[in-house]
Amino acid sequence: MSLVTTPTRALAVCGTCAGNRVTSITMTLTDGSSVDFSSCHACETKSWKQDGRELDISSVLGKAQKHKPAA
Ligand SMILES: [Zn+2]
Repeated sequence: MSLVTTPTRALAVCGTCAGNRVTSITMTLTDGSSVDFSSCHACETKSWKQDGRELDISSVLGKAQKHKPAA
């Protein structure tokens, strides 16, 4: 018998308040990189990580930006 245990992302712990009401999702940004977005329901801390490294919100926005051709 083998059980497959799927790690539950909801077990993430907030780095700010140590609460465990953290929602964590993985998103793929428009530049093709995938980042983990975590949002704490207790203290509303939001964080972005890529490959385990904290990402600055400005770099996330830069990656998520759609590059429109200059008119
Ligand atoms: Zn928190």
